[in-house]
Amino acid sequence: MTLRHERAERHRIQIRKGDNVRVISGPDAGKSGRVLSIDAKKDRLVVEHVAILKRHTRPNPNKNIKGGIVEKEGSIHVSNVMVVCGSCGKHTRIGHKVLPDGSKSRVCKRCDATLDKG
Ligand SMILES: [Zn+2]
Repeated sequence: MTLRHERAERHRIQIRKGDNVRVISGPDAGKSGRVLSIDAKKDRLVVEHVAILKRHTRPNPNKNIKGGIVEKEGSIHVSNVMVVCGSCGKHTRIGHKVLPDGSKSRVCKRCDATLDKG
């Protein structure tokens, strides 16, 4: 096992856009949803229905904006979420496996099922 250098290496986000994730800490803990976008530089991501920001807007007829409360997803830090495995349905750490055709795949650490579709 070569775990020695792991801390020194630059942390890379293993979560991909479109993944189903569960929030494991913070005010939205327990919620889950699909990853809508990822900010790799800030290690943050936007998950649907999670970290909803309510923005109160004024009507602006010139820009065709209706007044009221607009709900929009805010970003949360990647360390607060874990990928939900589509096979066993549990949130899991991500492992890696080389497939017979030589391509790499992310796999569920719990059940070994691939997390990459297609
Ligand atoms: Zn699994």
